Amino acid sequence: MTPNPDQNNEFPPLSFRDFSTAFAHLSDTELRFSYLIFGLMNRPWLTTLGTTLAEWALKWRIPIKWAVKPTIFRVFCGGETIFESLNAVEKLGVNRIGAILDYSVEGQDREIEFGKTETEIVRIIQLAAENPNIPVACIKVSGIARNALLEKLSGNQDLTMPEKREAVNLQARFERICQAAFDNNVPLYVDAEESWIQDAIDRLVESMMVRFNKERAIIFQTIQLFRHDRLEYYQKLIERGRREGFKIGVKIVRGAYLDKENNRAKEKGYPTPINPNIEATHKAYDAALKLSVENIDWVEICAGTHNEESTIYLTELMAEHGLQNNHPHIYFSQLYGMSDYMSFNLAASGYNVTKYLPYGPVRATLPYLIRRAKENTAIAGQMGKEFSMIVNERKRRRQESFEVE
Ligand SMILES: Cc1cc2nc3c(=O)[nH]c(=O)nc-3n(C[C@H](O)[C@H](O)[C@H](O)COP(=O)(O)OP(=O)(O)OC[C@H]3O[C@@H](n4cnc5c(N)ncnc54)[C@H](O)[C@@H]3O)c2cc1C
Repeated sequence: MTPNPDQNNEFPPLSFRDFSTAFAHLSDTELRFSYLIFGLMNRPWLTTLGTTLAEWALKWRIPIKWAVKPTIFRVFCGGETIFESLNAVEKLGVNRIGAILDYSVEGQDREIEFGKTETEIVRIIQLAAENPNIPVACIKVSGIARNALLEKLSGNQDLTMPEKREAVNLQARFERICQAAFDNNVPLYVDAEESWIQDAIDRLVESMMVRFNKERAIIFQTIQLFRHDRLEYYQKLIERGRREGFKIGVKIVRGAYLDKENNRAKEKGYPTPINPNIEATHKAYDAALKLSVENIDWVEICAGTHNEESTIYLTELMAEHGLQNNHPHIYFSQLYGMSDYMSFNLAASGYNVTKYLPYGPVRATLPYLIRRAKENTAIAGQMGKEFSMIVNERKRRRQESFEVE
């Protein structure tokens, strides 16, 4: 896993159509299982029915673990605990892919639950310090604070006395987690969330960047390029980092809450923070990659995307600037269970690759799983693409065994 920048850039050329490399980690039985699951998810009516039932089960607390754990959970999550997820971590590690253990418990609203999340994240950080297959840790600030509090803080609204205490607790919790990341020399990616709570997250992240990123990027901000203001934000953050002497770490993503953002803006009658169309998002995303590579002496990035064009564009930018494939400041990242054909081929060509590996009790991961399913049908295409890659590999294996016979 440890990149060696002195190494000659003599890696095998990158191809996303090398199916044998992309799926070498799956046995025939595992490939057949993926084929079945992705085949089912490829039918929009079935995905709509499944997500509606899951939302219903979540609301009415109907037990559905029996149906979810052996199917969609198995594809997209590592397990219910860190221990259960270590199998997936090792399997990725063998293929030079790092795992980002993502404690996917959402929608908590009590201090006791926030405390549990803090303990869990610190445990991941400590584990990462000892396990080279876990190169970084990650956190969602909404996992350690109530959304309503973050919204009030973002809007600079007056807080009640209990809320002021909560805000102090949040600051202290976040500082302790960042301190643990710094002490263990493990970078911490802070996820980006909904725009109406993001300002509070920005302030927390920036203050910790100033404090802990003096030598290298330990605290990473996430920039969502589906927002029309974030490219400028990123540019200014780099300028500020250079001016004030702290390194910039960023995870660059397009953004996951498209419909939620647009619907809320419409309902409340304010201009949407989202780009007018997908082309504008693609353009902003690629511009953020270019800006990063041009500032690579000061910036460390994680390109969190399943978009082939942007991924190839980043490899081209690296080549243009004479950067090694395994340049330590550049990571490519996909979600576990998605775009394996990209992750495994990138790793085989020497690029630094990680995968977000969500884990947690099945019920707690349901919102994440529902989002994955919805995102893939809404964007139309990604799940079809995943499925067609699996179909191609099955064909290739059948042909290979036919030739051997
Ligand atoms: C490692 C990793 C970490 C991630 N972390 C975060 C995070 O912290 N926060 C977060 O929000 N998301 C995060 N994501 C999710 C990421 O934002 C989604 O995967 C993303 O929505 C899909 O992006 P893509 O680059 O693969 O997109 P593509 O499939 O190329 O494009 C789809 C995306 O384009 C944008 N888009 C689609 N239609 C429109 C439109 N009409 N107008 C404007 N924009 C449009 C949306 O963002 C949509 O999701 C992460 C993803 C990965 C892989």
